[in-house]
Amino acid sequence: MHQSIVKWSSFLLTIFCLYSIPASTAFGTTSEEYRKLRQRMVREYIENPRVGDTIEDSSVLEAMRSVPRHKFVRPGLRNRAYQNTPLPIGHGQTISQPYIVAFMTTSLNLEPEDRVLEIGTGSGYQAAVLAEIVKKVYSIEIIPELAKTARERLKNLNYNNVTVKQGDGYYGWREHAPFDAIIVTAAPSHIPPPLMEQIKSGDRLLVPVGPPFHVQQLMLVKKTEDQSFQKQGLMPVRFVPFRRETD
Ligand code: SAH
Repeated sequence: MHQSIVKWSSFLLTIFCLYSIPASTAFGTTSEEYRKLRQRMVREYIENPRVGDTIEDSSVLEAMRSVPRHKFVRPGLRNRAYQNTPLPIGHGQTISQPYIVAFMTTSLNLEPEDRVLEIGTGSGYQAAVLAEIVKKVYSIEIIPELAKTARERLKNLNYNNVTVKQGDGYYGWREHAPFDAIIVTAAPSHIPPPLMEQIKSGDRLLVPVGPPFHVQQLMLVKKTEDQSFQKQGLMPVRFVPFRRETD
């Protein structure tokens, strides 16, 4: 008697679970729900930010609507993936907040045929946003475990136009230089000279410069046709420190 009650109740529980779980995923939020959260993130934090300029570049907005940011953070943080906030990715590093990613990508003024170098792959999210817009992305990450995870993640998400290597990005990536744009997502105390050499004339380098763990200045550096540099401070930012292989 007792056994049959147990059997019946577990049968009913199974039926209840099958009907209460959304069809596309066994547990938690569906990809359609994530897509809606992403649309809202772009509308509220990027097109209509409370602080900062609105982002209008349609290719950047489209990329921000497409890249599944929740797949670039730990499962336990997925419910916060579409808030306008940086999130920890392990090893003391963070994935930048969506508005900053959109702002930096817009500042690079990208074209579909561009080849871009990123220093600081981290989770791979910024690389994926770039990869939605340009032909080829090279990205360098100094922490071996992060480089490996980001490489696998980008491959699983079919970002076949991104190449990740582990190393100290201070020296850039000479074999593939010069680049149409370079973006640095960790803050060095000064602009690494090799990176200035590896942009094409007329093109741009975006880098947060300043002391570690303080407010830094996001600098846009343009190489002029006569090989001199024009530097412009875009906004105060807070990035994790730029590390060196000797650290
Ligand atoms: N763009 C990343 C955010 C990265 S946080 C994303 O979208 O998730 C900054 C990253 O820069 C960290 O992962 C850090 O390990 C890396 N980094 C710091 N100094 C570096 C260096 N010299 N070369 C390459 N990567 C570096």
